[in-house]
Amino acid sequence: MPRKRDKPPAPVGWQAPIALARKVVTLLEEHTDPLSHRRAIFNLIANGPCYGDGDEVKRLSDAEVATIAHALQGYLRGAVRHTIPRASIDLSGVRVHTLRILDGASSFMDGPVLGQAVLALTLTLHLAGFKNLWRCKAPDCPHIFVKTHKQEYCSGKCQRRHYKQTEREADRAEREALRVKRARRAGRK
Ligand SMILES: [Zn+2]
Repeated sequence: MPRKRDKPPAPVGWQAPIALARKVVTLLEEHTDPLSHRRAIFNLIANGPCYGDGDEVKRLSDAEVATIAHALQGYLRGAVRHTIPRASIDLSGVRVHTLRILDGASSFMDGPVLGQAVLALTLTLHLAGFKNLWRCKAPDCPHIFVKTHKQEYCSGKCQRRHYKQTEREADRAEREALRVKRARRAGRK
């Protein structure tokens, strides 16, 4: 029987780790449609630092894409929390093949797509810097994002919403303080 993979698949297009991390995390976190999630998984596998066969991603059903995207989201959230549960996903069945090329080494992989995606995501985030992985500052937003500039929210929408909330709370606190003051003054009379 021929070996499953004797020749490395050609990487589709190399991308700087920080750009790849930002693209993938945005597609996974800010989009909910199956096409965006499929693109996130495809980018990880076809363009990641350890690459696999992107065509395998094209053959997945929407249900398989949803399962993998959900696992990757859980993994990302676990990776920014400092408590249990930590991010852990089983990579069994994934094979990594590394060969020396002139100026370094090239690594490619095969096996279950979820495992390949997690391996590619882990390597990408290590290269991009895990310190750049942040949780959105809006308390009601669970989204993770890759920080490439001074940014505290996953999106402008979250930033505007949280600003408005904070403003309303400040107004309420101010009104409440005024009410207490007036009540005290009235009590003294
Ligand atoms: Zn957000």
